[in-house]
Amino acid sequence: MPIDPTLPYDDANIFAKILRGEIPSNAVYEDDHAFAFEDINPQAEIHTLVIPKGRYVSWDDFSAKASDAEIAGFIRAVGEVARAKGLVEPGYRLMANIGVHGHQEVPHLHVHIFGGQPLGPMICRK
Ligand code: AMP
Repeated sequence: MPIDPTLPYDDANIFAKILRGEIPSNAVYEDDHAFAFEDINPQAEIHTLVIPKGRYVSWDDFSAKASDAEIAGFIRAVGEVARAKGLVEPGYRLMANIGVHGHQEVPHLHVHIFGGQPLGPMICRK
C-alpha cells in the first residue's frame, strides 16, 4: 500500500531495520551518509536501492530538512554506486517514488537505480 509521505518518520519501517542491522540485506555500499543494497524484488537486471542514514520519510522530507552535508553525501553516494556498477557508459535510470501517486511503499527515502539493460520509455503511457 502506498504511504502518506506527510506522516512522521516511523522507526519500525523495514529500511530503518536494515540500517540498524536487524534484518539482512545484500549491501553494496556504505559511507557516513548513505547505505545501498540490492532490491529484494528486482525490476531490471540491476536494481539497487540507495538510502540516506538519516530519518527521512521521502524526497520531500529530505530536501526540506536534511543538512547540506547529508544531501551532498547522499547524492554523491548514488553516483558512486552507479559508477561502481559500470552503469555510466551504458546508461541507467534513477527513480524516487513519493507518496500515493508516486506509489511509495516504504516510508524511508530511497532512490532506485535501474540498469543493466535498455529500460524503455520513461513512464507507462495512458
Ligand atoms: P517503493 O515503491 O519506491 O517504496 O519501493 C520499495 C522497494 O523496496 C521495492 O522495490 C521493494 O522490492 C523493495 N524492498 C522491500 N523490502 C525490501 C527488503 N527487505 N530488501 C530489499 N528491498 C526491499
